[in-house]
Amino acid sequence: MSGFRREASDILHELDAMRAADAPTHGGRVLSYVYDSGLAELDELAAEAARRVQPVNGLDPTTFVSVAAMERGVVGFARRVLGGAPSADTADTADGAEPADGGDVVVGSVTSGGTESCLLAVKSARDAWRAARLGSPRVPRLVAPVTVHAAFHKAAHYFGLELDLVPVDPSTGTLAPAAIEERLGDDVALVVLSAPSYPFASLDPIADVAAITAARGIALHVDACIGGFALAFWPGALPAWDLSVPGVTSLSADLHKYGYAPKGASVLLTRGRDRQRHQYFATTGWPGYPVVNPTMTGSKPAGPLAAAWAIIEALGEPGFAELTAQAARATAALRATIDGIEGLRVVGSPTGPLLAVATDEDVPVASRVDPHHWADAARSAGWQLQLQPGLTQPDGTRLPHTTHLTVTPVTERVVSELTAALVVAADAVRGIPQIDGAVALAGLAEALPGFGGDGGGADGGLGALSSSDALGSLAAGLDSDTAAAILEAAGLLGGAGALPDQLAPVLALVEALPGPLTERLLVELLARVVEPPVAV
Ligand SMILES: *Cc1c(COP(=O)(O)O)cnc(C)c1O
Repeated sequence: MSGFRREASDILHELDAMRAADAPTHGGRVLSYVYDSGLAELDELAAEAARRVQPVNGLDPTTFVSVAAMERGVVGFARRVLGGAPSADTADTADGAEPADGGDVVVGSVTSGGTESCLLAVKSARDAWRAARLGSPRVPRLVAPVTVHAAFHKAAHYFGLELDLVPVDPSTGTLAPAAIEERLGDDVALVVLSAPSYPFASLDPIADVAAITAARGIALHVDACIGGFALAFWPGALPAWDLSVPGVTSLSADLHKYGYAPKGASVLLTRGRDRQRHQYFATTGWPGYPVVNPTMTGSKPAGPLAAAWAIIEALGEPGFAELTAQAARATAALRATIDGIEGLRVVGSPTGPLLAVATDEDVPVASRVDPHHWADAARSAGWQLQLQPGLTQPDGTRLPHTTHLTVTPVTERVVSELTAALVVAADAVRGIPQIDGAVALAGLAEALPGFGGDGGGADGGLGALSSSDALGSLAAGLDSDTAAAILEAAGLLGGAGALPDQLAPVLALVEALPGPLTERLLVELLARVVEPPVAV
């Protein structure tokens, strides 16, 4: 090859220009998605480590033995800090032989991220459940509080489990162990709890539920994807939540969150080798190489693993403890600030470096602050908080709509600037009521001649449909162009691909439209965002 079509510097220049339009990944201005240690040299080390294994195929750790060595290192670290190390009296057998409780040894895999860890935890539990009930035609059930991460909705969908969601306290987001106990039965393949939950940072009652599930032989997964590597080093005492709790059968923790690794790394730990072997897929039933995959991918990058490994080697436990302490101090400062803002309240008792903020309904209407208007005001000042919709639980109670903040070590450096901005943002929107979903819907209907008021009068519009199941079933048959037309009418499509300035109206629509329709519209939105323009 005689040369490239374009100069490398020119290509990278273009990439830099594209990156400049991204939300900032560093500096603490985006309070979700990114986990900034604030240590540039740690990012450099991670990048260099990833670069050195760039051509490696993690598919086969017997060919690329560095992959096995790094994975042993990462899983060993995770097992140690997440309560899964063999206890001293069983591990220290004089001859180094297998401890007597070898069946309970905690083993693990590095996966591509939290979703893959969660998917695999569910797949393994389903297959273990099936193996114990050969020939059973029943559909296995997954029991979890409504605050469980959406990755478990996805897992139930992919792997054919019934998802049985248990309501939490609507004002605090906390779960009563008895509410889980009531749902247990022989068809339950897995119970999932969070440490802590993403929406409200609630630490589920893991020891209490584990005592119940263990007595009935039911598997219990702890989703510590977001919090695991922070809670493991959290200052002060926490209720037991990790693999040190005997009935916990698996646990997920993301290296690309509070492990500070680049995206593409998580750990799934499982108690018992036999239980964990259900995670694997193996086949010799084709004419190619024998396939043995511990995770969902075939060929896979070693870069995120190498980066995570290098970070663990560099930080060690003292380094993690120091970074966690920074995030914990920043979280405490933010909490104190928000507690002091009239009209807002922190939801429940958040545990770890994240929290959710709702309207304080105990103050007069004129003093209340809507968390979504608040987030929009903060965003216009350069701080990106994450809007979370309200949700009706299976028992009909309503979880409030909230704004989420994920706090990272770097937040501490900007915490006085941030807290000041949060106070100013609240002052700017205090008294402005939450957007009425019905009004948002009516506005959308107005903009949509095909669905709106002039289609069938007051009763024929989108707003009227939303009160019935009709709109929900409309979603099933909605074609791509109609979905795009609705998105354009809502002002979400047709622009430069960027989000609108105000997200509160968007979230109001999300809350007002039936779930299946919103989901179909969001699919359309994301699909159109990456679709190349049609050539003219
Ligand atoms: C982030 C997260 C996940 C999913 O992880 P991804 O890395 O985004 O795939 C699962 N559970 C919780 C609690 C999370 O915060």
